[in-house]
Amino acid sequence: MAKMYYNQDINEGLLQGKTIAVVGYGSQGHAHAQNLKDSGFNVVVGVRPGKSFDQAKEDGLEVKTVREAAEQADIIMVLLPDERQKKVYEEEIEPALTAGKSLVFAHGFNVHFNQIVPPADVDVFLVAPKGPGHLVRRTYEAGAGVPALFAVHQDVSGQAKDVALAYAKGIGAARAGVLETSFKEETETDLFGEQAVLCGGLTSLVKAGFETLVEAGYQPELAYFETMHELKLIVDLMYEGGMSGMRYSISDTAEWGDFVSGPRVVDADTKARMKEILTDIQEGKFAKGWIEENENGRPNFNAYEESEAKHQIEEVGAKLRAMMPFVNEGAKSKQKEVVG
Ligand code: NDP
Ligand code: MG
Ligand code: MG
Repeated sequence: MAKMYYNQDINEGLLQGKTIAVVGYGSQGHAHAQNLKDSGFNVVVGVRPGKSFDQAKEDGLEVKTVREAAEQADIIMVLLPDERQKKVYEEEIEPALTAGKSLVFAHGFNVHFNQIVPPADVDVFLVAPKGPGHLVRRTYEAGAGVPALFAVHQDVSGQAKDVALAYAKGIGAARAGVLETSFKEETETDLFGEQAVLCGGLTSLVKAGFETLVEAGYQPELAYFETMHELKLIVDLMYEGGMSGMRYSISDTAEWGDFVSGPRVVDADTKARMKEILTDIQEGKFAKGWIEENENGRPNFNAYEESEAKHQIEEVGAKLRAMMPFVNEGAKSKQKEVVG
């Protein structure tokens, strides 16, 4: 069993008297900044003028430009979109990254794929919550937390691991459990998880199920409830009690169907394709494609977003959800909730 770290194992005193710059105030940024502040640490948010800047001010935080925040801070947490980090790092963070500071990430993509090569005289580590930023904040406020991974890439001070753990405690992650990893393992597993299971695998599964029912002449609204709405209830049961806990709550008929039909949907061929996806990630093919897509101005990304938003399940779902305002109660803002 891997070693897990919890609140009682961590001395957060290491962060006292230090200034933490949270660069970016999006999904992860707003959660880290507010949680760290509520945990008693000195936080300065670094973001460009605009929506996030105004929001951070409104939330009562000290807000500066990225450059100023990086200059002021001992610990610089980069919570910008992965594809923008290289440019902002080179222009605004690197010039302020003097010896002895710490450069921190919530995902290893840019360091692992050599987009950002930090100087040799700073600590480099990551603290990656295993959940969307809005849950990082919401669970913290509720006295709980989202588990996180941490990894040390460069340890100049000899304290990088302890500072990473203190940071993880500050955002509430050590209430749920913190696990040590490497930049390579975090990056590859994070990309695989979101592509094959959490985001890509799931949306494709739901769409295929919805389309199968609608093409067979069933009502789209019913197909939406069956293949999308009900999913959350099932996932909640799995979150609470694993697959056995979920299977305890469903009917024996559903459980029998789970056993005999599930493996017909996801079979050995699916798993073989998952292995291909993992290989593409490990060999850097996925990263290369995504970096190029951004360099080209995202033509395919934008086209996918547009066509996916027009899928019948989205149109039907929007109408049904408008009649169930309670399903959206938890989402306090319009900001996206994504699996990083
Ligand atoms: P978001 O897209 O939610 O955040 C974007 C933030 O960056 C906004 O505040 C935006 O400000 C700011 N920003 C964008 N471009 C610039 C710029 N050029 N200069 C200054 N500020 C800029 O990012 P996420 O929170 O999703 O991701 C941050 C990191 O966390 C990534 O490394 C991601 O992989 C990781 N992660 C994310 C998870 C998640 O739940 N989303 C989960 C785990 C890890 P503006 O309003 O001005 O656009
Ligand atoms: Mg049913
Ligand atoms: Mg991710």
